[in-house]
Amino acid sequence: MDEKKLNQAKLGAIITAEDTRLVEELIGIDENGKIDLAKLEQRLPDLKRILASAIAERKLLKHPMPEQDPEVRSHNFDEVALGYSPEVAIAEAKRCLNCKNPMCRNGCPVSVRIPEFIAKVAEGDFDAAYEIITSTNALPAVCGRVCPQERQCESRCVRGVKGESVAIGRLERFVADYHMAKKNKAPVTVPESNGHRIAVIGSGPAGLTCAGDLRKMGYTASPSSVCPRRSWPRRSRI
Ligand code: SF4
Repeated sequence: MDEKKLNQAKLGAIITAEDTRLVEELIGIDENGKIDLAKLEQRLPDLKRILASAIAERKLLKHPMPEQDPEVRSHNFDEVALGYSPEVAIAEAKRCLNCKNPMCRNGCPVSVRIPEFIAKVAEGDFDAAYEIITSTNALPAVCGRVCPQERQCESRCVRGVKGESVAIGRLERFVADYHMAKKNKAPVTVPESNGHRIAVIGSGPAGLTCAGDLRKMGYTASPSSVCPRRSWPRRSRI
């Protein structure tokens, strides 16, 4: 996908074609692209009111996930979803109410510290957000893509009572992708092997996380799939 289309798709998540059409119609842009100043002055109160209600309504909705154009994606095998840009991620994170009793966290099987990482995204501190997520979840890029968030964390989010829940999965995916794309990050260090070898049965998320944590403790761990045809990575096509 060329860079121009990618940027347009990402920008499209903030300024929709509908917003642009509405504004153009209200301020009276003629076919040559010139603004009709007399009409603009006359319609200014309407413009303010409509934009204010559009912004209020937008706050009730998740920021849409930018996607490849169907024309483009039908000619490649890349991911359809493009992921949030930093600007959209920050705007989405600001929808979080930072609840004192975060119900979202109760819906997460690995108890990701959701409000804490989202608060860091809202501040633009994506490195801190990554540290918070990975303190309880070794697979944020995977979970941000394939976890059924709509039945887990997002189904408990209080934002969902009136409008749509915070896009927790999309934010997790953004933070993980940001970290992976970052240059000059500190290399992951693992201790010397302590000579013990451990077989981990199962290569699903629990098995992979277990093997990763054991390695960090100095053990040599080998995850193996007990039933390759039904294993989690295969079923999830990752
Ligand atoms: S329940 Fe929703 S609004 Fe509240 S802290 Fe969790 S993500 Fe934020």
